[in-house]
Amino acid sequence: MFLRAICPQLFYTSTGMKDFRSQVESLYPEMVAQRRDFHRYPEIAFEEMRTAGIVAQQLAELGLEVQTGVGQTGVVAVLEGRQHGPTVLVRCDMDALPIQEENQTEYVSRNTNRMHACGHDGHMTIVLAVAKALVREREHMHGQVKFLFQPAEEIAAGAKAMISDGALDYPKPDVSLGLHLWNELPLGTVALVPGPMMAGADLFQVKITGKGGHAAMPNLAVDPLLTAAHVITALQSIVSRNVAPQDVAVVSVTRLDTGDAFNVIPDSVTLYGTIRTFRKEVREHIVDRFQAILDGVVTAMGCHAEIDIQALTTPVINDPAIIEQLRTGFASVAPDLAYRDDVNSMASEDMALILERVPGVFFFVGSANAERGLNYPHHHPRFDFDEKALVIGASLLASAVSAYVL
Ligand SMILES: [Zn+2]
Ligand SMILES: [Zn+2]
Repeated sequence: MFLRAICPQLFYTSTGMKDFRSQVESLYPEMVAQRRDFHRYPEIAFEEMRTAGIVAQQLAELGLEVQTGVGQTGVVAVLEGRQHGPTVLVRCDMDALPIQEENQTEYVSRNTNRMHACGHDGHMTIVLAVAKALVREREHMHGQVKFLFQPAEEIAAGAKAMISDGALDYPKPDVSLGLHLWNELPLGTVALVPGPMMAGADLFQVKITGKGGHAAMPNLAVDPLLTAAHVITALQSIVSRNVAPQDVAVVSVTRLDTGDAFNVIPDSVTLYGTIRTFRKEVREHIVDRFQAILDGVVTAMGCHAEIDIQALTTPVINDPAIIEQLRTGFASVAPDLAYRDDVNSMASEDMALILERVPGVFFFVGSANAERGLNYPHHHPRFDFDEKALVIGASLLASAVSAYVL
């Protein structure tokens, strides 16, 4: 067990990787109905009460040991094999976004300003199908599968909440697996990327204070809005001038809160935004430069500033050895798919916090179908995906789990 805990590769067998494709295909009508039900009734971060209830009920009906209320609205369920063996974690997310859906499908969101615009309705459906397929193999299973249905991925708070509620303890997983439907890739393509795959995210908030006054007498005021404009412009030099060209990073100012009258110079301005990086050293360098630029500009303009930078998630980093094993296994069970290892995203994912503690892999399942207009980006009010991706995702994930426990 000790060796397993530090080296999940040791108990992987590509011969154990069973092809679940036909089994999952028989679940397809059920999966579509399930996904559409989740889609009609989306719930945002930490409000996933109906969603978690359905998930917990279905897992309990399959005979799994189910725990609810983990990390507020999260669900954990364990499928125990008949024999002793490793523990494989399968994680998915449950939350929707505060977006008003603009699609006109029969399964359009019934909840005002709530929408599954990231595909998490699909992820839950996939993982429930994986549980259904694996339950049938229980008699031959050595080890156990721990299913994590996580809340609040979109605000990068759910993984943290579940971890602090003990979701990764008893049983402690040896390997962790997860996926994301990905509309940046066409249906039939799968991205398995060794090493860093999705960026780490920071959120910043800067309050710049000057001295308000009459807009017609700017000489009597100290204008924080003009100062903020200089700060925003100067921050653009961090990525272009301070980050090495071979590294990638983003510094985006996305929101500005200030006065509301045309003839008043406001007293203060608050700006918000995000930093995205793939490496700790790059992040630290950006934070240092951010602070120096802010201090310099604000001082020169006669204002002062308070800054708050919060680390939301670390980068998603896949274990290269596990990637290699999955790549070989996937190619044999699903040779008709196109596999890519050169895809990464500046978007962030709190699966990163799980992968930091349990080695594993997070992969993208291409879900776009341009001919059917199913290629709007994630978080767009017209986002939707090709439901055939549900079968691909579930059969790959079930096959990957089987390589460790069957
Ligand atoms: Zn999202
Ligand atoms: Zn997402």
